[in-house]
Amino acid sequence: MTKPKIRIAIIGGGLAGASLANALVRHAHLEFHLYESASEFSERGAGVSLSKTAQGALEHINPAAPEILRKAGAVAQKSSRNMIGSGPHAGAVVFDLIADPKRLGLTVHRASLLRELLAPIPQERLHTNKKLDRITPKSSGCVEVVFQDGESALFDAVIGADGIFGSMRKYVLEDFPDACDPSPAGFWDCRNVVPFEKVKAALGEQFFETDRQYGWSGDGAFVIHDALEDRTMVQCAVSAIDRDPCDDRKQPLTREFLEETLKNWMDGPIGKAIIDLILDQPDAHRYSQWEFRSTPTYAKSRVCIAGDAAHAMTPWQGAGAGQAFEDAMILGTLLGNATTAVQIDAAFRAYDAVRRPRAQRIVDSSRETGLIMTGQDAEAGLDPEKLRPVLKSRWDFIYGIDFVAYKEEALVKMREFETC
Ligand SMILES: Cc1cc2nc3c(=O)[nH]c(=O)nc-3n(C[C@H](O)[C@H](O)[C@H](O)COP(=O)(O)OP(=O)(O)OC[C@H]3O[C@@H](n4cnc5c(N)ncnc54)[C@H](O)[C@@H]3O)c2cc1C
Repeated sequence: MTKPKIRIAIIGGGLAGASLANALVRHAHLEFHLYESASEFSERGAGVSLSKTAQGALEHINPAAPEILRKAGAVAQKSSRNMIGSGPHAGAVVFDLIADPKRLGLTVHRASLLRELLAPIPQERLHTNKKLDRITPKSSGCVEVVFQDGESALFDAVIGADGIFGSMRKYVLEDFPDACDPSPAGFWDCRNVVPFEKVKAALGEQFFETDRQYGWSGDGAFVIHDALEDRTMVQCAVSAIDRDPCDDRKQPLTREFLEETLKNWMDGPIGKAIIDLILDQPDAHRYSQWEFRSTPTYAKSRVCIAGDAAHAMTPWQGAGAGQAFEDAMILGTLLGNATTAVQIDAAFRAYDAVRRPRAQRIVDSSRETGLIMTGQDAEAGLDPEKLRPVLKSRWDFIYGIDFVAYKEEALVKMREFETC
């Protein structure tokens, strides 16, 4: 028997919305439309690191994921090496994840990844210049979606993938006003994407002999550099403790400020060079890292939130996009198994039940990891021998997941919610 169509609106066309579209497009009975407020689908920022686990979630969504990542110019990182960037141990290796093949990831330019994720989606499902104004539940169970241009449409379900500052979270969490807004996590970061040869000349050839993600822990800050765009470019980033957090998330970045931040790094292997590389761009800025510290639910009846709208987190464990992919994987599994719109409520409750505890644990772990990586752990400080055991196991719970079992757990929950 053919399943009746279930109409779904996805609000927001970032990595979460695009991966969701990939998850839903595989089910002929799910008629979804993706709405993006901007005039084109675009991603600000540099590279995004995708662990094997994140790549695995994407492959569960779309078996062509390896091809998508290849077309996006992803560079496989043969290892991820953490080093000390300042102080008496500067230049020492803390750990090198080359020994653990489960943990090898890749780095991909955000805009290229978004382009390739959207490529397989039929054009008639993708809508730009469509800024959500409001949603209103109807007595029929449907949800009316109204856009700022005055157009409106009725859907059986709405998924908010509208990012950390989107409005869908406020709708889902209107009974929890304290949980609606993000808050500063205590760090800021800045980045630049620089031609490969220029970075190699500035930092030293020895750091580019192998495709490797380098992370440098130092006094109050952390530096990262890794190749992307088929090794033609290198992402360079500095993250640091925010000593003076303010409400303005984006601030101009000056040489004076960067030099003050990295003042104890100047005798180390990369302190001076990284400042020049970061400032080698017009109009450099730094961004404070914000997060959702607590989220009582991801779902309200036939509406739910996904991606950063649900669990914006600091980037210290490189897990935000991977978590968006896991949201898409679970929502695709649940909605793919729903035969009528009546089951959406149970599907979204099941989604909330399995996704929220895991994502929230990563939000918290990521913030704590940032403190350790910037030398703030009272015991470990910047001693590589002490840092190694403290840091190395922090990714285990993120990577140690069986997605087949996870999807099954979600389906079992959905059936439970349907019967109660
Ligand atoms: C500095 C930094 C580094 C990071 N590094 C990594 C990393 O290495 N690995 C990793 O896995 N993750 C990383 N992340 C996290 C990752 O980038 C995010 O989790 C992910 O990009 C979030 O995607 P999203 O689609 O949920 O949100 P967004 O990218 O914010 O997309 C939301 C979209 O919704 C649209 N929108 C908003 N409001 C409306 C509206 N009213 N109507 C219609 N559309 C609307 C917006 O225009 C936007 O296109 C990093 C994050 C940061 C800040």
